[in-house]
Amino acid sequence: MAHTRTASGWAAHDPSGVVAPYTFKRRENGPTDVTIKILYCGICHTDVHHVKNDWGSTMYPVVPGHEIVGIVTEIGGGVAGFEVGERVGVGCLAATCLDCEMCRDGQENYCDKVQFVYNGFFWDGTVTYGGYSDFIVADHRYVVRIPENLPLDAAAPLLCAGITVFAPMKDHGLLETPGMRLGVVGLGGLGHVAVKFGKSLGHHVAVISTSPSKEAEAKQKLGADDFILSSDPKQMMARARSMDLIVNTVSANHFIGPIMELLKPKGTMVLVGAPQKPLELPWQPLIFGKRVIKGSMIGSIKETQEMMDFCGKHNLTCDVEVVSTRRINEALQRLADNDVKYRFVIDIAGGIES
Ligand SMILES: [Zn+2]
Ligand SMILES: [Zn+2]
Repeated sequence: MAHTRTASGWAAHDPSGVVAPYTFKRRENGPTDVTIKILYCGICHTDVHHVKNDWGSTMYPVVPGHEIVGIVTEIGGGVAGFEVGERVGVGCLAATCLDCEMCRDGQENYCDKVQFVYNGFFWDGTVTYGGYSDFIVADHRYVVRIPENLPLDAAAPLLCAGITVFAPMKDHGLLETPGMRLGVVGLGGLGHVAVKFGKSLGHHVAVISTSPSKEAEAKQKLGADDFILSSDPKQMMARARSMDLIVNTVSANHFIGPIMELLKPKGTMVLVGAPQKPLELPWQPLIFGKRVIKGSMIGSIKETQEMMDFCGKHNLTCDVEVVSTRRINEALQRLADNDVKYRFVIDIAGGIES
């Protein structure tokens, strides 16, 4: 029987989704592991789905959280490149096979054996528990460094929200060629950081939203160049065939046909949200414009480190509302109601006695 140590955290125990204090076991720090004292953990929309078992895959009790930042407290003998006291982060990945084509090619986030940082299974067969807890033991291959100049609370959501929109922008050459035209659908946790990346990289950024109230914020606060109300056909038609890339962050069911018309011929829309129902895909904008629709899921660890370093260089972080551990349930509910600008982050260390 493997050695374990006791962790304190917060777990949901049933589909009511209510999170309560929970004590559980984590593995001892192994030769390739690092142990991290968690200081902050972002609240992702995925957490809301998992605590309520919306996707039918939740193993209760579930300790959510995959936007984890903290300080290294212990390092295994086989680990090079990390130091005790270093500021680090752990995102969605807990384990991959390390051996398949995707893993060898530095795209381990698409490994078909991928295991996530919570509600998954580690290599030793134990269930994974996420960042709503006082510490985590992570294999060093899934840990990234956080630049010194970034505040840890506002950096936490970069580990899921940030990399999810950064990776498709990198795939489509937005890191190399400035002056491209980027559309961002939805201005939430993912969308707001997509706008920041787009502007930092020197692109023309348009926000496409169903909420007129978001226009001022998109332009004045986040620096978007344009705002398009998707429910107004006139506004949509005026921007037809104008965009090179659209990052669609919306997870509510919505019709993508009119949004596809915003793409230039041969333009691409990348889906990163996960609507409940299958998409309806009209063939006209696809075929008449040789357009591409694809998906993308987070990013590799190498890409995540590249994004972190980019954020350090440009002083780029997320807009967050920090909540105490006593307010996790309230934050989950407000997130489900879309009542946050733009990401909740839990002050983990403030809520656990040291
Ligand atoms: Zn997430
Ligand atoms: Zn693999």
